[in-house]
Amino acid sequence: MAGEAQALMPVEQALEALLRQAQAAPITGVETISIEEAAGRILSEPLRATLDLPPWPNSAMDGYAVCTADLEGQPLSVCQKIFAGTQPKPLEAGRCARIFTGAPMPEGADSVEMQENVELLDDGRVRFIEPIRAGQHVRPQGGEARAGDEVLAAGVRLGPIELGLAASLGAAQLRVSRKIRVALLSTGDELVDPGESLRPGQIYNSNRVLLRHWLHRLGCEVIDAGIVRDDAEQVRQCLAGLADVDLILSTGGVSVGEADFLGQVLREEGELTLWKLAIKPGKPLTCGSYRGVAVIGLPGNPASTLVTFGLLARPYLLRRMGVTEVTPLSIQVPAGFSWTKPGKRREYLRARLESGRAVLYANQSSSILRSAAWADGLVEVREHSQLSEGDLVSFISFTELLG
Ligand code: AMP
Ligand code: MG
Repeated sequence: MAGEAQALMPVEQALEALLRQAQAAPITGVETISIEEAAGRILSEPLRATLDLPPWPNSAMDGYAVCTADLEGQPLSVCQKIFAGTQPKPLEAGRCARIFTGAPMPEGADSVEMQENVELLDDGRVRFIEPIRAGQHVRPQGGEARAGDEVLAAGVRLGPIELGLAASLGAAQLRVSRKIRVALLSTGDELVDPGESLRPGQIYNSNRVLLRHWLHRLGCEVIDAGIVRDDAEQVRQCLAGLADVDLILSTGGVSVGEADFLGQVLREEGELTLWKLAIKPGKPLTCGSYRGVAVIGLPGNPASTLVTFGLLARPYLLRRMGVTEVTPLSIQVPAGFSWTKPGKRREYLRARLESGRAVLYANQSSSILRSAAWADGLVEVREHSQLSEGDLVSFISFTELLG
């Protein structure tokens, strides 16, 4: 078996190959949609500010607007009250204005003193206790963005923060790339969908639900082809019935066994590459095409499906959608475990962060999805490596991976 370790493809190499393929087949359609509908979509062109943000100088505090040149230690009388949403009159020389957070600065005022630092005199005048720095507590016009600035780049995924920023610039509509259309197949004679009763030898189909929801979160359109039996004719019919999809994503039947019916059909009507990856869980992966449509076949064990989708298919999909940042953010955390037997494959262990340390779920079997439900994310243990407790390991949180 000495040769087998060498035959395993490193995770980076598989990811690189997938990203190259994705780069060569970008989703090109573009649409204009309402900002209300844009969560999870990808900006297809840069978003530029059409106005200065803020559009005018305004107060960062509840307090008093003053002209610092007028201040010589004497109390000032208040000439006006300026609330947010109103338009102030110019500041009268030698006086100050009551002002509230977000209200426009009156012409002639250059600074704001917060209300905590003033003394209100009986005659209504205001004495300033602290020295006032010119420009203090004023948010300058264009301090966040100038009209014409690029505030979001093309290829950015629109989440609540990006959408909030677009809204602050008054964008009601956004140019986004069209949704990628993913056909989802669950292969396996043993599979039954929830709601049906189980007969001997059958199990419930979990990958379908897991991937469908995950794909939706990534902004994909899912064409759910349901369960496909381990039968070449059924696979052939299913694939032939798929119209207008960008990717065929299947689970199960990827080991080169007797049940490799997807592979059989791809060999006849497309291309098939079977990868043996240095990844655990999830060694076998199909990467091919059917009548010109890309196909990714993930291993069927639920934890393998999770890991290979998250680390390989997810970045592939995002890259095809035009997203620039496709690798999930990982952080370094101390291992709350030791790892004494170096493996030939890179392991992605379901782990929880407890008091800042990564603690492993006891059963890391690829058939067990409960491990992932318990965990906060995946710890990466590189091939051929050993770890002692406290050593730093890479941790990818599910919050990062699932979004
Ligand atoms: P396979 O990749 O088809 O050899 O399947 C590997 C293991 O994953 C077997 O135990 C299958 O029963 C299981 N499996 C395959 N597909 C699914 C699925 N959609 N949901 C849950 N388990 C599955
Ligand atoms: Mg199977």
